[in-house]
Amino acid sequence: MSVSNAARTPAPERPGEWSRHAACTDDPDLFFSTFTQLAKKICTACRVANDCHEWIMDVERGQSVHLRFGVIAGLTPHERAVHDPAAPNPTRPPTEPKPKAPAAKKKRRRKLPPPACPSTRAYKHHVRQGEPIDDACRAVYNEERRADRIARQNAKVRALWARGLSDTEIARMAGVGKIVVQRTRDRLGLLPHDTTARAAR
Ligand code: SF4
Ligand SMILES: [Zn+2]
Repeated sequence: MSVSNAARTPAPERPGEWSRHAACTDDPDLFFSTFTQLAKKICTACRVANDCHEWIMDVERGQSVHLRFGVIAGLTPHERAVHDPAAPNPTRPPTEPKPKAPAAKKKRRRKLPPPACPSTRAYKHHVRQGEPIDDACRAVYNEERRADRIARQNAKVRALWARGLSDTEIARMAGVGKIVVQRTRDRLGLLPHDTTARAAR
């Protein structure tokens, strides 16, 4: 029973506008269950699979497979680790192609209208099309980047905290200040690990 709790805890929150269209919000637990194929199927039909893939690969970059959880963007923890060139993964085949969003590729079958402004998808669409970028789209995009950075920070701190590390150790390994670790931990409702006391015992 503790396994499922531990497995769910480190799942980072999806940031930004696109996450409102995530197809996994009705039954999020399914994505952390043994129904892997069903979860993958839902991801395949998800209209924000591309954004989701980009986000999760960024959030988990460099993490070992043991710190990744659930089916996200149609990929299992192992598949995501294999697709991450920065991840320590001894099972990665030497000729593994560059990370791609399989779910997103299939999604292209239907021709969709251009994304509505203001949104990050619209911002990216403007960039791709060489169109002028309006302030509203730029603001949404910047806000999403900020939320993304915080989500990444949360995930990093949470994963290191889950290993029983102190704030000082987390700060060193995450490359941030101790005060940032404390604030992040408070925000996530995680109690500090006092390794000094542990060592003295
Ligand atoms: S791709 Fe899958 S995990 Fe990502 S938002 Fe869509 S349904 Fe959720
Ligand atoms: Zn726009």
